[in-house]
Amino acid sequence: MAAKIISGTEIAKQIREEIKEEVKSLKEKHNLTPGLVTILIGDNPASVSYVTGKQKTAKELGFYSVQDNQPADITEDQLLALIDKYNKDPLIHGILVQLPLPKHINENKVLYAINPDKDVDAFHPVNVGKLMIGEANYYPCTPFGIQQMLIRSGVQTDGAEVVVVGRSNIVGKPIAMMMAQKAKGANATVTICHTGTKNLAEHTRRADILIVAAGRPKAVTADMVKEGAVVIDVGVNRIGMTPEGKAILCGDVDFEAVKEKASMITPVPGGVGPMTITMLMLNTVKAAKVAHGLA
Ligand code: NAP
Repeated sequence: MAAKIISGTEIAKQIREEIKEEVKSLKEKHNLTPGLVTILIGDNPASVSYVTGKQKTAKELGFYSVQDNQPADITEDQLLALIDKYNKDPLIHGILVQLPLPKHINENKVLYAINPDKDVDAFHPVNVGKLMIGEANYYPCTPFGIQQMLIRSGVQTDGAEVVVVGRSNIVGKPIAMMMAQKAKGANATVTICHTGTKNLAEHTRRADILIVAAGRPKAVTADMVKEGAVVIDVGVNRIGMTPEGKAILCGDVDFEAVKEKASMITPVPGGVGPMTITMLMLNTVKAAKVAHGLA
């Protein structure tokens, strides 16, 4: 039987409705409006499109939102001063610096300058460390979205074999660490695979929940998946263009073949993608509450 499709679009919509209600209530009860600044350096088309999407969502949800566009030749010191300004701005609760940054700027230096309480991307070492010890204020947006999809789809994670393909700092490592925590929507036995893994299929075939974030089109084929597994495809690969100039996307999983074997699967597009921005909004609401002693 074909797998149930886990629609990130639908789940994200549901969570956005919940956020809207919470924003309304924060305004009414506490005169508090969550504030998000997105800092964009230069005009890389992909970055412009990501930042525009984030700002549009923030506005739709009733946030105070600022888009701060800076030229590609901004100096590192100027950018650090800008972050310092937003660190001190009481109307701004979340600061997002759109990556990648131009080569002359040290990315880590910039990310580490963000006040951890305003670090809604959860890339600051303080937040990475808190996640590791099970005391996270914020979860990085994509792993947070994956976990919410599992919880809201009723997937049993307790005691499950979770196999993560990919060990990046933004997806693979944090989702593996989150799934291994003694917590709701977690408590799983976790394996992390990467390019050094010998016989990848031997590991993926053991997975009750297979999370793939490799950035390789159709790297996971049906023979690598256990019958009845839940498959979360994080990959977004541009494999061509439509005649209208729209990117043709595919995931890291051979969706058509794997959906015949899995019990649940996320599509690309419409799977993990829509969840990521929504989780950024959830983190910003949390940051506003933290700043006002309400969390
Ligand atoms: P990344 O930094 O390139 O990391 C890819 C990871 O996959 C690396 O750890 C790499 O191993 C591993 N890998 C690559 N090929 C492999 C293979 N054949 N077998 C086993 N492991 C393999 O990528 P990322 O930033 O984590 O992103 C992964 C994918 O998710 C990309 O397609 C990206 O566009 C997408 N993504 C989507 C969202 C979303 O919101 N939907 C958000 C973030 C990322 P090594 O460490 O050994 O090199």
